[in-house]
Amino acid sequence: MEMKNEVKNYLQTNDIDIGFQDLSDLVIDKENCVFCGSCISLCPRIGMNEKEPKLLEYDPECSTCFRYCPRTYFPTEMFEKELFNGDANKSYSIGHYQKLIAAKSNDETVLRGAQNGGVVSSLLIHALESGLIDGVLLTDKDDKWFPKPVIARTPDEILSCVGSKYTISPTLITYREAIREFKLEKLAFVGVPCQIHAVRKLQLSSPLSEVYGKFKLIIGLYCFSNYTYDLMKTFVQGELGIPLNTIKKFDVSKGQFYVYKKDGSVKQVSIGKTKQFKWSSCQFCKDFSAELADISVGSAGTYSNDWNSVILRTDIGVKVFNEAIEANKIFASNNVDHLKIEKNAFRKKTKITLPKKETLDSMGLLDVSASEIRTYTTLMSLGQASESILTEVMKSDKNLVKSALNSLIQREWITSTNGSYSVINPKTVISNEIYKQRRNLMERIEKLNKDVLPNLESIYVQNNISQLRHRKDLDFT
Ligand SMILES: Cc1cc2nc3c(=O)[nH]c(=O)nc-3n(C[C@H](O)[C@H](O)[C@H](O)COP(=O)(O)OP(=O)(O)OC[C@H]3O[C@@H](n4cnc5c(N)ncnc54)[C@H](O)[C@@H]3O)c2cc1C
Ligand code: SF4
Ligand code: SF4
Repeated sequence: MEMKNEVKNYLQTNDIDIGFQDLSDLVIDKENCVFCGSCISLCPRIGMNEKEPKLLEYDPECSTCFRYCPRTYFPTEMFEKELFNGDANKSYSIGHYQKLIAAKSNDETVLRGAQNGGVVSSLLIHALESGLIDGVLLTDKDDKWFPKPVIARTPDEILSCVGSKYTISPTLITYREAIREFKLEKLAFVGVPCQIHAVRKLQLSSPLSEVYGKFKLIIGLYCFSNYTYDLMKTFVQGELGIPLNTIKKFDVSKGQFYVYKKDGSVKQVSIGKTKQFKWSSCQFCKDFSAELADISVGSAGTYSNDWNSVILRTDIGVKVFNEAIEANKIFASNNVDHLKIEKNAFRKKTKITLPKKETLDSMGLLDVSASEIRTYTTLMSLGQASESILTEVMKSDKNLVKSALNSLIQREWITSTNGSYSVINPKTVISNEIYKQRRNLMERIEKLNKDVLPNLESIYVQNNISQLRHRKDLDFT
């Protein structure tokens, strides 16, 4: 509770002098922006181009955009505590959950256009009809597959958004409109894992309204990676030569990228070919299964593409899902490959960003062993990890990892809380090391001046007196 209030205070307190420039420096320019649309929605001075938010006019530096960005301060443990009450199962790879199940829509109209089993759309229609929500922020598209954030307030509007758009979408830009124009009080949201972080911040404390725009249901989609619109324009239309308005559906499955055309034909290419169009911050993303959603939905772990695997996480998620079954909107089965989902999520969570070779070589100057360097840099990529996860990821000897961790704690390169390790910001680590090296150097210089030079000088003078030319100065040739 105390931590929740602390985070609420942080979100609500204007920190004068922090503005869009800070967001640019730390998030956008560092390729960390996930283009969720939150900052654009919260501040009328922020607009956007095709790929990123842009400042439109003078910035009074109120810090709102910075505080609410999902990529700045995000105390995961506080959100987990609030959402899961500590009584859900917890898995390193897929987070907290109450149940993992397979499900499918009962509605033929939904199934006709749905990406997989249509569970997302059917759950939303049920939530709308049962009065749990009065609107939902979704992602539609134009006829060229350009993603279009929309507010859906009727089952038909939900239906027009079925299907996955493999392009990053600023889905949250409609949040302001949902509050100011439509005065919606009970919102739902559907999005990829990174967007869920933005929504959870807004749910905790909305800077736009105390009354309107409260999020009641948050559905997350599994996501391994997303793309820039260049995937459509340059790759699908340009390289594959498929006009975008002839396409019915895209899919990614088992290492292949599929383009389903309206005429019934299918083009299939290796997913490797789409690599260059990936959204840049996706490479650092660790969340496959939308760990902070009420319900997470995907196709991984199902035995047929027209089914969904569903992770029920929070009480509200379980309630909506069970009610939708009772209302005959969806049906469920236990036929789901739990391990497959865990494996996908583990693969994403343990993706490592290796430092450049020169960086690793120069780290040797700090007098640390190769296994300490590897442990520190691996832990930096993982964010947080236990000793056993680190050992598994590093494929290293358990004792070697243990000893590296102990030594790194002593050197204050990493910290440990309840068996979980995380790195200290390299800015602090390196400046401490520089300070230590400087202090060591000063001590050595002092030792040379104090202990070495006087004695050597005496011996030299004593034994080389004939070289002395000056009476006062020891000026030898
Ligand atoms: C970019 C992306 C990557 C994905 N990667 C995987 C994966 O690796 N493995 C896996 O199992 N599943 C993945 N999914 C989820 C999967 O494609 C389906 O969305 C999910 O199975 C739900 O199916 P459904 O039939 O219930 O959805 P539907 O009932 O068809 O509803 C789809 C919903 O997705 C929303 N949506 C579509 N595109 C976007 C977008 N770009 N951003 C935000 N919301 C969007 C729409 O608003 C709509 O409500 C991904 C989805 C997306 C959008
Ligand atoms: S991640 Fe979202 S809030 Fe943060 S800078 Fe990008 S668009 Fe704005
Ligand atoms: S991989 Fe991560 S950062 Fe990229 S779109 Fe998916 S959830 Fe967002």
